[in-house]
Amino acid sequence: MMFRNLIFDWSGTLVDDLGPVIEATNIVLEKYQIDSLDRETFCRRFRLPYSEFYAELLPHIPLAELETHFRPAFDAAVTPVTVLPHARETLECCVTLGIRCFVLTSMDSVAFERQMDQFNLRHRFEATYSGVLDKRELIHQILETHDLIPRETAFVGDMIHDVETARHGGISSIAVLTGYNRAEVLATARPDLTVPDLGVLRELFEHS
Ligand SMILES: [Mg+2]
Repeated sequence: MMFRNLIFDWSGTLVDDLGPVIEATNIVLEKYQIDSLDRETFCRRFRLPYSEFYAELLPHIPLAELETHFRPAFDAAVTPVTVLPHARETLECCVTLGIRCFVLTSMDSVAFERQMDQFNLRHRFEATYSGVLDKRELIHQILETHDLIPRETAFVGDMIHDVETARHGGISSIAVLTGYNRAEVLATARPDLTVPDLGVLRELFEHS
């Protein structure tokens, strides 16, 4: 198995922001007198596009209004965002092997750009796409813009939506178990390959 191009999700794939996302989500829910979610409940219920998650919890509140609460709460969260183990080394390995790397994330662009600089990861990517609510709507355009041949390209992500985005784009899907969706949940989307973390993916690349 050898890919020439990898499109990475950000949250739960390259960085761990689950703690601050749960903190911020609960602050949003609190504003509307809704009980907070514990980690397990959040992971079971959260999905992308996140508009669907919020439509279920707060059906009558516009997404834009929720985002005005979420963003400052995320910035003020006590739990830090961290680079996931193996992420840095995997991106370095991709450079060594000549694999072109991209990011496609739903994360708000301001927060994403800040994290990319904070973690000094910007130079690892040829191009990044953030603030994308439904990744399926952009995947074809990304493949076309960068002349990515589908059979040489994979999307690496931690959620069902990432697998569905890969399928929609006609590219391979690689699921990682370091993020929001649990293994049995991700398995229902039938990814082409599932790895416990990026370290295992890196070993597969190095040995192929
Ligand atoms: Mg993710």
